[in-house]
Amino acid sequence: LSQIGADAAGGVTRTAFTQAEAQANERVVSWLRELQLTVAADRWGNLFASSDGNDPAGVPWLAGSHLDTVPNGGRLDGALGVVAAVEAIAAMRQADAMPPWPVEEPVRYAHGKVGSLLFSGAIEPGQLTAVDDGTIVAFPPPVTENLPERAAGRAIGGCLELHIEQGRRLERAGRRIGVVTAVASPIRLRIVVAGRADHSGATPMDDRRDALVAAAQLVLAIESAGRREAGHESVATAAQLTVSPGAMNVVPGAATLLVDVRGIDGPSMARVRADIETAAATIATDRELRITVTTLSSAEPTRFDEAVVAELVETAEDLDEPTLVMPSGAGHDAQCLALLAPAGMIFVPSIDGISHSPLEQTADTDVITGARVLAAAWATAGYAIVPDPS
Ligand SMILES: [Zn+2]
Repeated sequence: LSQIGADAAGGVTRTAFTQAEAQANERVVSWLRELQLTVAADRWGNLFASSDGNDPAGVPWLAGSHLDTVPNGGRLDGALGVVAAVEAIAAMRQADAMPPWPVEEPVRYAHGKVGSLLFSGAIEPGQLTAVDDGTIVAFPPPVTENLPERAAGRAIGGCLELHIEQGRRLERAGRRIGVVTAVASPIRLRIVVAGRADHSGATPMDDRRDALVAAAQLVLAIESAGRREAGHESVATAAQLTVSPGAMNVVPGAATLLVDVRGIDGPSMARVRADIETAAATIATDRELRITVTTLSSAEPTRFDEAVVAELVETAEDLDEPTLVMPSGAGHDAQCLALLAPAGMIFVPSIDGISHSPLEQTADTDVITGARVLAAAWATAGYAIVPDPS
């Protein structure tokens, strides 16, 4: 699969809604058809492959991920969860262990979760520009095949996703399987410092409204705000700073900071935001300049279903695989599906925590362990977790 979209820089560039992504979809669909699954698409371009199941009342359990990559990404990211689900179905078929309810694999959750956001109803197509830092995507996506439409509103029993961790926690803990409790969500802020541009030679130190110095103080205040809430797993990052006019002989007159606050605890994230706003007000007063803080986006963290988390831990332990129960700092498709049904995620370690890079790697044994846990959980979760009929 990593040959599709292989780029000159040794990575994979298979961005959403491109020919390369369509080719990857077709490749995976051919594998799924070999497994005698029925392939369908929803009106957002998400592809699904489903077994029928022999329980007429059974609602499908989904497992899958996304096939698109970031530009010059690695070969694992979402592809791992898609391929592992294919392998899981193959293993179930081989072992004659297909569950009585349908298993269904969504294989195209493209572009900053756009596919799963639309599928779950979390966003409407008109809101697409608000997704993924304002990047506008082509919509509707190009249809590569004439596929039957997946029945809209078909109930879902639950959803599982295997993904690489994209961090170093598992490696540090010496564990191969992470079970994700919650997905952090970002609050994004734009902070504009309006000072006064002056000649850097002619303006004495006590007569300056230096926007960059104020922004520098803010950067430190943002770090402190994050550190104060570290016990609640919140983090704060001053991610980008632009200064104008940016000339060697001019005291900076304006500065813009982009800030990313993330966490799994809403009140803790709110305290980080409040601390940043207080620091901005104090610095503005002290330095006699204007600082405005604008919220670009703000979302509630997703907590995964406790029964699914417990089931994944138990499944892994039955396979003699101790787990690390942990939050995810990065966003994933499963958090969108969690709006519709009980959902959960399995992480496998990322070597050195590297991801979204050609250097992204996971040991083969860890990939296999992750796929085994996914297969075992997928084959049994429907017995343990019955969806709320409402
Ligand atoms: Zn991913």
